[in-house]
Amino acid sequence: AITSGLAAGTRRGALIKGGAALEALSKIDAVAFDKTGTLTKGQPSVTDLVCWQHEEADFIAAAAAIEMGSHHPLARSLVDYAQKSGVKIPEAENRMAQAGEGVSGIVDGKRIQIVALDKLANGLKLDHDQTAQADGIAAQGKTVAVVFEDEKAIGLIGWQDSLREGSVAAVSRLSAMGIKSVMLTGDNPTAAAAIASELGMDYRAGLYPEHKVSEVQKLTSTQSVAMVGDGINDAPAMKASDVGIAMGSGTDVALETADISLSHNRIEDLPEVIGLARATMSNIR
Ligand code: ADP
Ligand code: MG
Repeated sequence: AITSGLAAGTRRGALIKGGAALEALSKIDAVAFDKTGTLTKGQPSVTDLVCWQHEEADFIAAAAAIEMGSHHPLARSLVDYAQKSGVKIPEAENRMAQAGEGVSGIVDGKRIQIVALDKLANGLKLDHDQTAQADGIAAQGKTVAVVFEDEKAIGLIGWQDSLREGSVAAVSRLSAMGIKSVMLTGDNPTAAAAIASELGMDYRAGLYPEHKVSEVQKLTSTQSVAMVGDGINDAPAMKASDVGIAMGSGTDVALETADISLSHNRIEDLPEVIGLARATMSNIR
């Protein structure tokens, strides 16, 4: 029964690493989802630029110079945007990435910091009007970064990522099966709320990578939990869950850590496969 259950899983787009994973999947009460690259496609595009200080071209050039060093999807998207708009990207020095927050470096002798809207600290702040502008962009479900030059806010960058086609169906199907869904994200709470309400699910936002682990641990203390993710930073949370599930397009680390991978990147395959696991285990009992 297990062998045919695993084979049926494969036909439905899920590679299940053994009978224990199939059994664990059949018992799931809740699913924790990473947002970017899991519920969304993970291909953000730059949609908003707000410059308070400089010409837009200079603003983009300085920001892109700092993001050049980062492999983060937000960084790649901004650099791509800058290159397509034809600005000359200057050299930057001392580039550094702060996980879950942003990046910084020196351009033309000035310290440029690009920081997530909800992670402003160490004296970095926005005035009332600037905050309202930033919140307005985030309320559309967008990721927002504030750009600082020598600790003074000089503008905003907004990115939009689109939901995977199957995300709404996956969450509603799970709910119909009595399984709760929660989104765990490092993105700002305003954007997270907008996306979570489109999907009809709970969320925890503004999480640093290590906080995804503690959120999963909180959930597993009272119920059986699957964690679905795609990134290196999701792997520890997948490990902390009862069943780790990776998107097929995920990073190698996520795929190696996972008990199950969704090979066609169809998040809507997940409720199907849980249904299959339940049916297989009830045949055995
Ligand atoms: P996720 O939960 O989506 O995987 P991360 O932990 O990678 O998020 O990042 C959390 C937040 O930190 C992002 O939503 C973004 O606001 C900010 N951030 C991280 N890296 C960068 C970067 N290179 N440029 C701009 N913002 C960044
Ligand atoms: Mg992700």
